[in-house]
Amino acid sequence: MMPQRTDVLVVGAGPTGLAAAVTLARRGVEVTVVDRAARPPVTSRAAVVHAYTLEVLDRIGAAAPLVDRGIASPRFTVRDRDRMLLSVGFGDLPSRHPYALLVSQSVTEAVLTDRLTALGGQVLRPYEMTGLDHDAAGAVVRFADGATVRARWVIGADGMRSTVRESAGIRFGGPDDPGESFVLADVRTRSALPRDEVSLFLARSGPMVWAPLPDGVVRLVASVAEAPREPDAGYLQALLDERGPARRPDRLTDVLWTSRFRIHHRIAERYRLGPVLLAGDAAHVHSPAGGQGMNLGIQDAVVLGDTLADVLAGRPDTLLDEYSAARRPLAEEVVGFAGRLTRLATVPPAGRPLRDLLLRALSRTPSARRRLALRLSGLTNRPG
Ligand SMILES: Cc1cc2nc3c(=O)[nH]c(=O)nc-3n(C[C@H](O)[C@H](O)[C@H](O)COP(=O)(O)OP(=O)(O)OC[C@H]3O[C@@H](n4cnc5c(N)ncnc54)[C@H](O)[C@@H]3O)c2cc1C
Repeated sequence: MMPQRTDVLVVGAGPTGLAAAVTLARRGVEVTVVDRAARPPVTSRAAVVHAYTLEVLDRIGAAAPLVDRGIASPRFTVRDRDRMLLSVGFGDLPSRHPYALLVSQSVTEAVLTDRLTALGGQVLRPYEMTGLDHDAAGAVVRFADGATVRARWVIGADGMRSTVRESAGIRFGGPDDPGESFVLADVRTRSALPRDEVSLFLARSGPMVWAPLPDGVVRLVASVAEAPREPDAGYLQALLDERGPARRPDRLTDVLWTSRFRIHHRIAERYRLGPVLLAGDAAHVHSPAGGQGMNLGIQDAVVLGDTLADVLAGRPDTLLDEYSAARRPLAEEVVGFAGRLTRLATVPPAGRPLRDLLLRALSRTPSARRRLALRLSGLTNRPG
């Protein structure tokens, strides 16, 4: 049942909200988690959990059960049809998780929910937050069914269209264009591509990510000019034919789930306003091309949960301003990185030979490959 008061209210039980709640619950903080959806989603969405995120999940006891349910991928490749332009290995990463874990987002959420339950917590559903007022003592949060809760702190982990962010009046800057359009699909294919590595195809019409998931499922993410409402098998086969391997093309055998979405690259102007704190997609959104969105959100959440637990234990609340100051530049970096990947894919024909030359040169330079591996794995975000 919804309490009248709580120390911390987490709005949103996606990967960010769940990771924040688990971190707080482990530190003995009284935390209430709400979500407007009656049930957790079952769709895959973000499919890659990187090495540094696994290290962060280790801290809250969630990495081991997740690793058990995913595919440990030793490398990431960039291709132009049949030509391998770049291969980035994760095997030498200075991490106890020297790989990228390929696993559906719904599994990541289920593992975090299990952790929360084991700590005596739960997600209250369906509760749609509709507004809040805040003062020096905290915030009063309103819900669609008329309920209200007084919370000392509110974590907005309610995704891209965050009501927490909007209610607090925090600006979500970015260009006014309609955003980048993506098609997503979970499919099965007969394919000659390795079943344990993510391949990023740089096609003239835009990048396409080919990511294997457990149980023979392949996740496709493609940037397209205009995504159809429901991409069907014919559309997806055409994408594979146009952007995937040419000599031994993938043959689609099954379409399990499809979706489309538009992404604006946006970052909240601040992650804290008084008792209101933002994390995950509520604070930053960007193209899924670099596979970083959910990773950054989980990292935000654990840092924020720990910082908030410290503040509730008596440390100064200016620590939370430091959270905002430290995390925001990381989102700026990811937005820049995702933008560069898209530009790399969509180089006009005249520039492609030079691009391919540069990528091959990068591929032959161990220090450059290592820097890229560290970057993709998120280990460049590791403090110290
Ligand atoms: C279709 C789709 C495909 C994607 N594919 C990829 C991908 O391939 N790779 C990648 O890196 N990323 C992908 N993403 C992005 C990735 O899913 C997000 O980065 C990640 O989910 C962010 O987690 P979050 O917890 O911050 O927000 P979310 O996962 O969006 O969770 C927010 C939660 O808040 C709840 N909520 C929202 N508003 C309210 C409210 N007013 N009151 C109460 N609850 C509320 C929602 O029900 C939801 O459960 C995809 C996203 C979508 C939608």
